[in-house]
Amino acid sequence: MPRVEVDHHRCEGKKPCVQVCPEGVFAIRKSDVPLPFLIRLKVLAHGGKQAFVVNEAACTACMKCVDACPETAIRVTP
Ligand code: SF4
Repeated sequence: MPRVEVDHHRCEGKKPCVQVCPEGVFAIRKSDVPLPFLIRLKVLAHGGKQAFVVNEAACTACMKCVDACPETAIRVTP
């Protein structure tokens, strides 16, 4: 099974992963991840939401999310 990871130090919750993933692997929600102060400010400036992996088992390693993320915050290990 592929491993899907979101780097919450980079994610700004812009949602392209949710839009391009054909398998519903991601969800955008309010972030409760402990982050350094400046990164927390950046996340808050973008609405306080980030992407989370909610259905990793469905991933087919198509890499659409990796290509779509403007923050290069997603890593998929086939
Ligand atoms: S690699 Fe494809 S199936 Fe897997 S999370 Fe990314 S977009 Fe979804």
